Amino acid sequence: MSRRLHLALALLAVAAAAQADVFTWVDAAGVTHIADDPASVPPDARMGRDGLRDLWGEGPQGRMPAAGTPRAARASLETSRSRRIVEGAVADIERGETALAATALESALRIDPRLPDPHWYLAGLDRERGRYASAESHLRAFLGLAGEAYELWRNAAEERLRALVDEQRLADPKSAGDADAWVGVAHPHFRIQYHSDLGRAEPAYASTVVRYLEEARHVVGERLGTVPEEPMGVVLYGKAAYLRAHRHRFSFQTVGFYDGRIHVVSAAHPAGELRALLFHEYAHAVFREQTGGDRPYWLNEGLAELCERASRGQAGLTRSERSSLSQRIDAGTWIPLRRIAPSFSGLGDEDARSAYLVAAAAARWIETHSRPADRARVLELLGEGRSDDDTLSAVLGRPTEGVDDEVRRWVRSAFPTTGNAALGPPL
Ligand SMILES: [Zn+2]
Repeated sequence: MSRRLHLALALLAVAAAAQADVFTWVDAAGVTHIADDPASVPPDARMGRDGLRDLWGEGPQGRMPAAGTPRAARASLETSRSRRIVEGAVADIERGETALAATALESALRIDPRLPDPHWYLAGLDRERGRYASAESHLRAFLGLAGEAYELWRNAAEERLRALVDEQRLADPKSAGDADAWVGVAHPHFRIQYHSDLGRAEPAYASTVVRYLEEARHVVGERLGTVPEEPMGVVLYGKAAYLRAHRHRFSFQTVGFYDGRIHVVSAAHPAGELRALLFHEYAHAVFREQTGGDRPYWLNEGLAELCERASRGQAGLTRSERSSLSQRIDAGTWIPLRRIAPSFSGLGDEDARSAYLVAAAAARWIETHSRPADRARVLELLGEGRSDDDTLSAVLGRPTEGVDDEVRRWVRSAFPTTGNAALGPPL
C-alpha cells in the first residue's frame, strides 16, 4: 500500500486556524502530523472540519433577556436589585475577579432564587475549577428557570451539558480504563503526546492543542525574552489518567508539572483553562531550560503567573489583588522576595496565596522596567551560576532587596495614602 494511501485511510481531522490553514492528519504509524503548507498534506486530508470551538468561552454574546413574567412591585424591585448584582458579577468575571463574582452570583440567587442568569455564570465558573457535578446542576437549574426568550442560551446550555458528560467520564477513575493509549503529534517546536480518550471526545483536539502551544511559545518568548531551540515535549492527560500516573509525586493536588517534558491535565473539550495552563507550564519549562533550575522561585512563579494571565487577556494584577498586597504592607505582613527565593514551602494557605501575588507583582515590576533581551540576560546569568543578587544588580541595577523596595512602592502607588504617619512618606 502506498504511503499516501496509508495517510488517507488514517485520516483523522483537518483544522482551519483563523489566519493560516493548519492541517492535521494521522499516518499509518499512528503519528499525527500538523502542517501549514497545503502542498505537504495528502489530498484526502484536506477536506475536514474547523478547530475546536470554545464551548464555554464563546457562548451567546450580548445581554440576557430581562425577566419575562410580570410580578408584584416588591418582587420586581428585588429582581432589579439582583440583576444589578449579576451585572457587577459579569464585569468581575471579565476582569478575572472570579472569586468575587461567584460570591456575588450566590447572593443574587439568595435574593431572587427564580433568576436564571446566575446559574448560567456559576456553571461556567464551576466547570473551570473542575467541579463538573456542580456545573451540571447549575446548567439544569438554568434550563428549568430560563424561558423562551433565552433560546440561544438554552441551546448553548444543552450543548454544554453534553460536553460535561465527556468531562465527567475523563475525570472518573473507574471509567478511565487501564490500557493507556497515546497519540503522538509531530511539530517543529513541540513533541506532543495526548491520551487517546481526549481525541475520541473531540476530533479537533490535536489542532487546538497545537494552536494553544504556538500561542504560548509566542507569549512566553516575549515575556521571558527567549524560547528553547529544541522541540519541547508536552504530554496531555484526562483528569483520571493524570492522577493515576502522577498522584504519588505530590502531597497536594496538581494539574501540571515539568520534568523535562510538560505534563498537564486537559479537559475533553478544552477551553481557556487548558490554554492558560499551557502558558503557565511552558513559562516554567523555558525558565528551567535557561537557568537549569527553578530559582529564584518568586521570579520563576511570577513570570509563569503573568504568562498565564496574558492568556486570559489580563496584563497584570487586578485592583483587589494590589489592594490585598497593599494591606499586607501596611500591616507589616508583606512576604519579602528574599523569603520566597528558595521556594514557597513552609507557608500557610493564606500566605502561599499572597506569595503568588507578591511574585506576580515583582515579575510585573521587572517587566515594565526591562526589555525582553534584559529578561533573557537575567535567565542567562542565573544559568551561569551567578547569585540572584549579582544577576539582578547586573541587569536591573539593584539586588533582591532593592527590587523588593520598588515592588512595594509600585503596589502602594495605586492607593492614596491616608495621612497615617505609620505608612511612611507619600509615594
Ligand atoms: Zn507555577
